[in-house]
Amino acid sequence: MVGENQSSVTFPSGIIKRLDQFISTEKADEMGLTSRPQVLIMLLRNFLEQVEEAEKNVRNKEFDNFQYIDKNDHKVVILDKFSNKEITIDIDDTGVHNCTNCTDSHCLHVKYILTLSDALNQVLSTGIELPEKLMKITT
Ligand SMILES: [Zn+2]
Repeated sequence: MVGENQSSVTFPSGIIKRLDQFISTEKADEMGLTSRPQVLIMLLRNFLEQVEEAEKNVRNKEFDNFQYIDKNDHKVVILDKFSNKEITIDIDDTGVHNCTNCTDSHCLHVKYILTLSDALNQVLSTGIELPEKLMKITT
């Protein structure tokens, strides 16, 4: 019986047989895994956490090369330490970000400044008023 907040999934019988064999072992008992859903939920959670963690690490590594420098009404300036260049990202009235270095609105520089919300929020908490366009990156 599948409840309102549940879904059923079909697995090949071979893998289910192996899963059932595992569940019947002492090892599974020691791990507190006594049913198919328990094992599968644990595996899925671990898998998703691993993937998310790996993505975060890759992102952080990419962003290690960037450093926030300055912002004004229509621009955010960052330092790209890899090329040792100052990169300006223009922000138009509709909140679209465009990197003047890459002439792209989806490059790593733009992705980086979109993660700067913490830094920008700190600026906010000091009482300095942020231009409306930048408010969009803080949310
Ligand atoms: Zn760029």
